[in-house]
Amino acid sequence: MSSRSGQPVVILRDNVERVPGQEALRSNIMAAKVLGNTVRTTLGPRGMDKMLVTQGSDDIVITNDGATILHQIHVQHPGAKLVVEVAETQDDECGDGTTTAVVMVGSFMEQAENLIDAGVHPSVIAKGYNLGMMKALEILDTLAIEVTPKDTAMLKQIAKTAMTGKSIEMIMDKACDVVVEAVSNVAVTSGKKTTVNEDDILVKTKRSETMDAEMIKGVLIDKTRLDALMPKKIKGVKAAFIANPLEITKTQTKSKIKITSHEQLEAFSVAERETLRAMAEKFVENGVNVVLCQKGIADPVQYYLAENGIYALEFVPEKDLKYAAKALGGQIVNKPEDLSPDVIGTAGNLEMLEDIEMTKLSGCKNPQAVTILLRGSSQHLVDELERAIEDATRVVQDVVEDGAYLIGGGSVETELALRLREYAATEGGRVQLAIEGYAKAFEIIPKTLAENSGFDTVDKVIDLRQAHATGEKYAGLNVFTGKVVDMKSEGVVEPKRVKRQAIQSASETAMLLIRVDDMMISKGADQM
Ligand code: ADP
Ligand code: MG
Repeated sequence: MSSRSGQPVVILRDNVERVPGQEALRSNIMAAKVLGNTVRTTLGPRGMDKMLVTQGSDDIVITNDGATILHQIHVQHPGAKLVVEVAETQDDECGDGTTTAVVMVGSFMEQAENLIDAGVHPSVIAKGYNLGMMKALEILDTLAIEVTPKDTAMLKQIAKTAMTGKSIEMIMDKACDVVVEAVSNVAVTSGKKTTVNEDDILVKTKRSETMDAEMIKGVLIDKTRLDALMPKKIKGVKAAFIANPLEITKTQTKSKIKITSHEQLEAFSVAERETLRAMAEKFVENGVNVVLCQKGIADPVQYYLAENGIYALEFVPEKDLKYAAKALGGQIVNKPEDLSPDVIGTAGNLEMLEDIEMTKLSGCKNPQAVTILLRGSSQHLVDELERAIEDATRVVQDVVEDGAYLIGGGSVETELALRLREYAATEGGRVQLAIEGYAKAFEIIPKTLAENSGFDTVDKVIDLRQAHATGEKYAGLNVFTGKVVDMKSEGVVEPKRVKRQAIQSASETAMLLIRVDDMMISKGADQM
């Protein structure tokens, strides 16, 4: 850095730390490898869980979810942050495959390190990786198998693969049914395209003695009837969704007493009573038997509603109210005067669930929104159950939308490694070395699956290579027996989207990191 006059030209501010060339690359390689190795032990059904503890708080998270782990450990290194982004993108786009994606970045960077040590220039490595990635995605397309949204047996198998190894084995079959039923109910097909809005599936959790999963064609609201005179069960629900309070604001302060008899209504003036009664009458006139109100309901109104056998809830959160309106096919209105047959929602049944203090509205016809209720005996279990169900819901959604799945258990990665090696040979020169390194990186997946299940990694990778070399393209590792078997017949199946996204974003991030030859870390003003 010097000018023609020999005076140094300062182009970096004082508070910029510079990590030059090779050192920056080495540092990024190390960061990616560390993260890859951190989450690696959790990969696959026999992967271990991690316990994450935040110092100074009571928060303990036990999980084997890659994105959750990386999110909790708050990485500082700039290269590592890009790797964490890979996990986050993977989670946003597919809802599964986060561990795979991060392990892949680590593996790509490890192979890059070997290539650099062998004297291959980073720009050649990046070029080889780019060629490799395009080829890999092409091969992936040829390995994908088509499926329709109607093939519920296959969808259940996809849900099962996503949940295998999570603490949910006891209710696995039920959980798969629930997930597939939920997605099928909210899937919208127009022409050849099917889409699923994940917001249309609400997951509710409750602590209870037994573990259970249930799909409700309707909603659950965390509240119970306002008045003991209201019915606990209703058949043929006709529900009103009200946004404004059902009260006369001024009288609220003097209406704190609970009205249980007609005499107590005397606390209100005749005129007030008439107004409040008129509010309740509107519901009766419209044949409504369930009232969900986002705000408060004055005691006299509650009384009149109860007297007419109407079930009512007040202070229903806006989100729940919207969801209920959608599930029951109704609309939210401001006040009872706005009621009309169009805005009244219907459901088969209302049931007050006293044990878990919820109101269940179920049996909606063609609901646009459904609810999954999960029960578990501890908060950790409930949380992990919820994550497992959410993962499974997302993978079923992926497959319903894309209509394509792949075979798991390390079979795809072994096939990719084999075919990419063949492809590398057609390129020749130093780029060939780079593509070969890229190809080898994929073997980290079967290798890790073997390692996490306690089998010899070298033996298993060799067995797998051999099987694939003889045309068994679905050969993968049965992590429970250690045998190399046809994963298609084992039913280990995953969305194409999960693998595609993992390969693409892991490769792109690796290339990005490989091309970095200078890192300038500007310290914030507070650190000067
Ligand atoms: P990720 O966060 O990447 O989804 P997982 O812990 O869910 O990580 O592991 C996914 C890997 O485990 C995939 O490679 C998948 O093919 C493999 N896998 C899942 N189920 C089985 C199984 N029953 N046998 C062998 N491999 C499996
Ligand atoms: Mg997974």
